[in-house]
Amino acid sequence: MIDDFSTEQLANYKAYLNLIEERMINKYFEQQKPYIFCKAGCSHCCEKGQYPVTKIELAYLLLGFSQLPNEQKIEIIEKIKKLKQEKLKFETENPASKEGFMYECPFLKNNKCSVYEFRAVICRTHGLMFFVEGVKDEEPKNKIPFCVHLGLNYSNIYDEKTKTLSDVKMKELGITQEPLAYNLSLKTLFNNEITQNLDFEFGKVRAMIDWFPD
Ligand code: SF4
Repeated sequence: MIDDFSTEQLANYKAYLNLIEERMINKYFEQQKPYIFCKAGCSHCCEKGQYPVTKIELAYLLLGFSQLPNEQKIEIIEKIKKLKQEKLKFETENPASKEGFMYECPFLKNNKCSVYEFRAVICRTHGLMFFVEGVKDEEPKNKIPFCVHLGLNYSNIYDEKTKTLSDVKMKELGITQEPLAYNLSLKTLFNNEITQNLDFEFGKVRAMIDWFPD
């Protein structure tokens, strides 16, 4: 996988990551500071998901993997093998499942990302409120991260009864910064002014474990 990209392309991808963090993601987290309770050792975002990534993201992740001690590498490979078997079983038993197979990220160890500096784009946006376009009118456009129900992000202004963010709670806390939802779709993060001069294409997005051969 790493060999599918040149050293220059991977360096270019790294530069892209730095730019989207600096110009978008870090700025968003800073703006949402009163509502964000992400901290080291909290790994809810990595415990149940599908982790959609492109090939270059996975190649960069594997670059991080290549620097891990052998013992840890073996552990991750075994986890991936097991997950692939579990996915196959799940799909056989639940052919009509809309949600699809959800799993703990194989790179998570002791509640920490073992390839943190090399993590994918989606991993960097976890925890922010985002909006989705094209949803039915009756459905909420803004998506609050699920950890709101665990007393984490946005929970200080969330009303569990109405399932909405509460202006009253905001006032009570004296917070003047409105909670904002961002466009964090991969389509946008992979196609913007920062990506115009890249020497690679992001291409197809797949669930992380689907990139690994059976
Ligand atoms: S790669 Fe790291 S940050 Fe991304 S889901 Fe896996 S453990 Fe979490």
